[in-house]
Amino acid sequence: MSLEERKGLPGDAGLDTPPAPDAQTEAARTKHAYEINKLSKRLHRQVGGAIIDFNMIEEGDKVMVCLSGGKDSYAMLDILLSLRERSPVKFELVAVNLDQKQPGFPEHVLPDYLRSRGVPFHIEEQDTYSIVTSHIEPGKTMCSLCSRLRRGILYRVAGELGCTKIALGHHRDDIVVTMFMNMFFGSRMKGMPAKLVSDDGRNVVIRPLAYVDETDLVRWAEHRRFPIIPCTLCGSQDNLQRVQVKAMIREWEKQHPGRIENIFTAMGNITPSHMMDRGLFPFTTIQASGRPEPDGDIAFDADESCATPARPGVIRIA
Ligand code: SF4
Repeated sequence: MSLEERKGLPGDAGLDTPPAPDAQTEAARTKHAYEINKLSKRLHRQVGGAIIDFNMIEEGDKVMVCLSGGKDSYAMLDILLSLRERSPVKFELVAVNLDQKQPGFPEHVLPDYLRSRGVPFHIEEQDTYSIVTSHIEPGKTMCSLCSRLRRGILYRVAGELGCTKIALGHHRDDIVVTMFMNMFFGSRMKGMPAKLVSDDGRNVVIRPLAYVDETDLVRWAEHRRFPIIPCTLCGSQDNLQRVQVKAMIREWEKQHPGRIENIFTAMGNITPSHMMDRGLFPFTTIQASGRPEPDGDIAFDADESCATPARPGVIRIA
């Protein structure tokens, strides 16, 4: 008897009979809930890990969470709120949005959301849109001037609100893309730090999403149904070079899954003696010591490209 003929015989249910629609829906629901639970745990673990590794938040901190209305900043606020609930370290969060007076900006969306979450917030209204559009020719990217203005305003607001840290929603992919941008167009190996002192010297800026993969943020935003405000209101074109670099690393990731993670890990696992920066390693004065060096050079050995990478955030100085 062929398999086709066997179908429908009593007692064969489950051989290759599709499950009933209800069972299918139930199975899909269970799988979805399982995936979301995994995603939630991963996001909380990564954000918590970055905070600890870089000592981003300390007892008594008042953290200004910069909220643009995009998926990344919503996710950052959402995860920080839930980590704060469980954290033995006591800190405050205040959400800040800069309303740049772009045409069509839906002013009520963020206040409504923040009130619904019970988050203290401040909306800073500054018409940077008019300033930027009056200085930049139509069709040219406005982002550089716009970001500079925004940065200055946010630093000022942090001081006025008494905030001790400023949290930005850049994620792991932003950090990797920035490094390639700097390499390709600026001839420097420089990424985007997880923690830094601002250029005015008055603020500590943190990036709690530093370990987070952008695709996870997309899924989290869908799951949490954040009321996303489109980022195209200003009419500016995305920076073409950034778009190209992002497409490049996405393509690599498709062909070699795990590559972005490896690049990111490499950024926290630097061996200055094997780079070319004379400011980081005293090449001009090194001498043979006459005794074996456990971390000494193995210049003539095979490459170590398959060595197990260290955890992100750990900088190894050879
Ligand atoms: S996309 Fe628009 S709002 Fe965002 S930085 Fe560029 S000019 Fe400013």
